[in-house]
Amino acid sequence: PFDVLVVGGGPAGVSAAIYAARKGIRTGIVAERFGGQVMDTMSIENFISVKYTEGPKLAASFREHVENYDIDVMNLQRARSLEKKEFIEITLENGAVLKSKTVIIATGARWRDLGVPGEAEFKNKGVAYCPHCDGPIFKGKDVAVIGGGNSGIEAAIDLAGIVKHVTVLEFMPELKADAVLQERLYSLSNVAVLKNVQVKEITGTDKVNGLTYLEREPGTVKHIDLQGLFIQIGLLPNTDWLGDKVERNRIGEIIVDSYGATNLPGLFAAGDCTNSPYKQIVISMGSGANAALSAFDYLIRN
Ligand code: FAD
Repeated sequence: PFDVLVVGGGPAGVSAAIYAARKGIRTGIVAERFGGQVMDTMSIENFISVKYTEGPKLAASFREHVENYDIDVMNLQRARSLEKKEFIEITLENGAVLKSKTVIIATGARWRDLGVPGEAEFKNKGVAYCPHCDGPIFKGKDVAVIGGGNSGIEAAIDLAGIVKHVTVLEFMPELKADAVLQERLYSLSNVAVLKNVQVKEITGTDKVNGLTYLEREPGTVKHIDLQGLFIQIGLLPNTDWLGDKVERNRIGEIIVDSYGATNLPGLFAAGDCTNSPYKQIVISMGSGANAALSAFDYLIRN
């Protein structure tokens, strides 16, 4: 068996694997797609100490760093289920079973798509998901935020301090965000809120130039000119495959303590698949390191 088996090859998983391997213990990493969300990212400007990089380039350095250690890398393999027996057993989609004394789940998350024409086409060309990451790109421009829940309204407040104007579009007749966030939003002079509207299409040529929406009452189609938009309709953790053996919160994030420990002894989790409040590369890497050190501590005590 492995001493530490990491499931997931994004920033959290890679960091966990390197920290584990540096303890001289038998370490493996199994990933559906090495690099994770970083592979979908164009410019990265908040990976501290690196002023600018691009996702695929950062993912290649992850790979290079991992290969510097004796880590068993199983790429393009998807975990299907987890069971706790004498060891923790991970069954892969191809039927293989991997056994390990400790496991670190780092399967990340994915942004929920709007599913309208133009969204896929203009990803990284005006269609964005993360205000902490891409907000500054739209300095002085007109943008929209789709989604009036807490994350949408937090994004709109954040962006209002950077961009020229923010339009919030919410499908329901009312915003779902907490009252204090709504108050703060309505106190800002460069924000407009459209409720009871449905985004129909994101328009553009080589990049986004606007969006078309339907006013659900009375059913009028309208268009606004914009240079960017942030889709904030949910971040879905990749944790469904764990079933109900691993404790998760209402939105499916794995519940971890400050050691990265889950409800199952020997099972740890890190990064965007957990209930950590903010989802960023540096944060995921820190939590991966934290979980690996906790797994090592578990091994020397058991
Ligand atoms: P992920 O990166 O999601 O990696 C999860 C890993 O698990 C992947 O390897 C995946 O293939 C694997 N996996 C999933 N399910 C399974 C399974 N069942 N079996 C095996 N493997 C599985 N953050 C920043 O700090 N700065 C930025 O500029 C930035 N820009 C972003 C731009 C975009 C478009 C997106 C989508 C995200 C951006 N982020 C940015 C957020 C950042 O990418 C994430 O916070 C970070 O990648 C999370 O790392 P992670 O390792 O927890 O998860």
